[in-house]
Amino acid sequence: MRQIYNFSAGPAVLPKPVLERAQAEMLDWHGSGMSVMEMSHRGKEFTSILAKTEADLRTLLNIPQNYKVLFLQGGAIAENAVIPMNLLNGGEADYAVTGAWSKRSVEDASAYGKINVAASSEADKFTHVPTFDTWKLNRNAQYLHICTNETINGVEFDGLPDAGDVPIVADMSSHILSRPIDVTQYGVIYGGAQKNIGPAGLCIVIVREDLLGKASPQTPAVFNWKTQAENQSMINTPPTYSIYIAGLVFEWLLEQGGVAEIEKQNIAKAKLLYDYIDSTDFYRNNVAINNRSRMNIPFFLKDESLNDAFLKGAEANGLLQLKGHRMVGGMRASIYNAMPIEGVQALVSYMKAFESAH
Ligand SMILES: *Cc1c(COP(=O)(O)O)cnc(C)c1O
Repeated sequence: MRQIYNFSAGPAVLPKPVLERAQAEMLDWHGSGMSVMEMSHRGKEFTSILAKTEADLRTLLNIPQNYKVLFLQGGAIAENAVIPMNLLNGGEADYAVTGAWSKRSVEDASAYGKINVAASSEADKFTHVPTFDTWKLNRNAQYLHICTNETINGVEFDGLPDAGDVPIVADMSSHILSRPIDVTQYGVIYGGAQKNIGPAGLCIVIVREDLLGKASPQTPAVFNWKTQAENQSMINTPPTYSIYIAGLVFEWLLEQGGVAEIEKQNIAKAKLLYDYIDSTDFYRNNVAINNRSRMNIPFFLKDESLNDAFLKGAEANGLLQLKGHRMVGGMRASIYNAMPIEGVQALVSYMKAFESAH
């Protein structure tokens, strides 16, 4: 098999041992004679998979007992609407616009009530998180929404604003489990799985119990967090195979030593790439140093007429999916938990060689 490194922003690289285990268990999960895909979601086999997946996630993120963990469908974009359905109920909410994803969240939420933009870095092309003392926070907001890692723009929060009693709702799709977090600082944490967890089709929502039961009356049952929490995320059929793979990823993370250990690797990988980009004017990254994402690293060639040649050469070297998002242009390397440091080393070697050749 050809050795490649996949820098896709999502769906993204998965740990090889996870794929090998899924392959080994494909036809016969633990002697059941079935593939996980064929199991009833209410059967004892699958309910044991779901229970272990949740328990391991709770261990990894140190999730307190007064938070529910939901395994839902529809991805983070569906949650953009589901969040105001569950929390707004005629009230107001604050949103910080720090990149393409949080901008989209505002657009999707606006149909459900009064949305205030508390801070925005759009005028600076989303190259930083506005300093927290400039945020215009409304103490009567039902919640404050932030996206703690902007996948498209490569902007990551390096702290949290002081929202007082207003619960913080955070879209962590592209950096959940990449670094330790204090769950108690948030009311709701959510993320689509296909960036740093597992396959597409699964969205994880971690919600503090006192925020359940506030949904507007017309909220459909599948989108009602309280109903889903009371039914073990099974008011509809959950994405069973995606949950199973997420569970294997959580086991792999625990074997790596957990999130604190994986963070060390993530720091080392990101440093390798940023240090090289900063060492030359052939490449550049425009994000404020303290907000540079460890997971998604956009960069530009000084001479953009070389973009196609750069990508073609990268592919020939097994370095895939480096083209930047169409909104930002240039290149983007997504280096999630499952990207080994060897992949980043290979990328930097290629970038050096390309620089010398041009
Ligand atoms: C990818 C992504 C989304 C969208 O996820 P879907 O699964 O397509 O709904 C939302 N927010 C962030 C931060 C993302 O990275």
